[in-house]
Amino acid sequence: MTYQSINPYDGKLLKKFEEITDVQFETKLVAATACYEIWRHKTYAERAKIVEKAAALMHDRIEELAHTMTLEMGKRISEARGEVEFSSNILAYYAKNAERFLANVELHPTFGEGHMESSPIGVIFGVEPWNFPYYQLARVAGPHLMAGNVLIVKHAGCVPQCAIAFETLWIDAGAPVGLYTNLLISHEQSNKVIDDPRIKGVALTGSVAAGKSIAARAGQNLKPSSMELGGTDAFIVLEDADLEHTIKWAVWGRMYNTGQTCCAAKRFIVVEKIADKFLEKFTEALSLLQAGDPLDEKTTLGPLSTEQALIDLLKQVDVAVSNGAKVLLGGNRIDRPGSFMQPTILTNVTPKNPAFRDEFFGPVAMFFRVKDEDEAIALANDSDFGLGGSVFTKDIEHGKRVASRVETGMMFINNISWSDAELPFGGIKNSGYGRELGDMGIQMFVNKKLVRYAAIEAPL
Ligand code: NAP
Repeated sequence: MTYQSINPYDGKLLKKFEEITDVQFETKLVAATACYEIWRHKTYAERAKIVEKAAALMHDRIEELAHTMTLEMGKRISEARGEVEFSSNILAYYAKNAERFLANVELHPTFGEGHMESSPIGVIFGVEPWNFPYYQLARVAGPHLMAGNVLIVKHAGCVPQCAIAFETLWIDAGAPVGLYTNLLISHEQSNKVIDDPRIKGVALTGSVAAGKSIAARAGQNLKPSSMELGGTDAFIVLEDADLEHTIKWAVWGRMYNTGQTCCAAKRFIVVEKIADKFLEKFTEALSLLQAGDPLDEKTTLGPLSTEQALIDLLKQVDVAVSNGAKVLLGGNRIDRPGSFMQPTILTNVTPKNPAFRDEFFGPVAMFFRVKDEDEAIALANDSDFGLGGSVFTKDIEHGKRVASRVETGMMFINNISWSDAELPFGGIKNSGYGRELGDMGIQMFVNKKLVRYAAIEAPL
């Protein structure tokens, strides 16, 4: 049984779901393909009507949707509400801006005139992770549906109720049958989906392992893909940083969503002169977090999404320690029911330690003391990942120079990876390729067609 909704706060099974059969899958794919033939010819205004309605419904159902998410994967309720509202805003943003983003672009070659036009390409397959159960779906649904494509989506096994709630939004918004389809399918079935000639593109957000498997499959089929994978974002603190401001971001950056964020701050790289003070205050702030029911507004530390996620994270900490890392804070599960992990700080992580290159997907921070800015940048770049990163300094121009030297897809000065509908999101290296959100996010699965008109004779 792949699709199980289990409350990580108390380990209780809430609901389980059967995977669909191949016959059921075929019916859904036929509906999606037929829907594309209608949807692709709709005007932007007609598409926007449905997408705006889905956005409005998300907004109206904020409590219900947030509650489902908190029960299913343990996100603290205030964060869950924030995610629902943000997801609604992403849908509304694309409903409003898609036509402008995909308008013809005039070209002026040496002879004649030309333009690039954008058109949809068909049914797109999305594979999405549990850590932001609605936001990840909105990031693909808003742009790709507004572009005239249709979507079928495989969501993560531990959030089936969120997956179904999001699909229901589209049905209730009056979307034509097949516009947005949630698929409860296995990895094997997912491979068959990618191989199916009716699928024209594949968008994954997930781990490097999933990226390698799904990108290879898409590649074998010559299908375009976008890969939003993991990260080990550096949090660089320079000598002149405002410490009070920086510590608040350090805590938020590592602990938001109980540390289960791709672009969370994971490697804290602090220059010598400020390192002791930073570490003292960071340790103190993390020790104040209180584990509790994520439905309780007062709780400051929620559980991890699943028991397995906790087991895997504890194993990673063990490996780090057996290879020489020191545990400055935490390091263990919290002695109470549920999948709770102590806020943890690891120091003395050398390049020989496997932890040095690992992504810790939970409340585990790695701390590095460096001599100066050059060493900080070199360490930040010594990573297989390249998603985001941040630098803290009172001198913004200095911050911009440092940001330019860090090899990632996104850099933030005096804040950490704060996603906005308007800003392209994505990484390089093992963090993947392609971008979601902003203008770039809607360009991933469209045909960019050149049309040229020139009164030129054929050369003989
Ligand atoms: P995961 O195991 O890769 O799962 C993500 C999704 O991929 C799930 O729906 C999963 O389905 C599916 N999947 C995994 N392997 C598959 C395969 N071989 N074939 C078909 N589907 C497959 O990722 P996770 O560990 O749950 O999620 C956390 C990872 O996602 C972290 O590395 C995080 O950094 C990354 N992430 C990246 C971004 C970004 O925008 N860059 C955003 C959020 C998260 P099942 O659940 O059924 O296995």
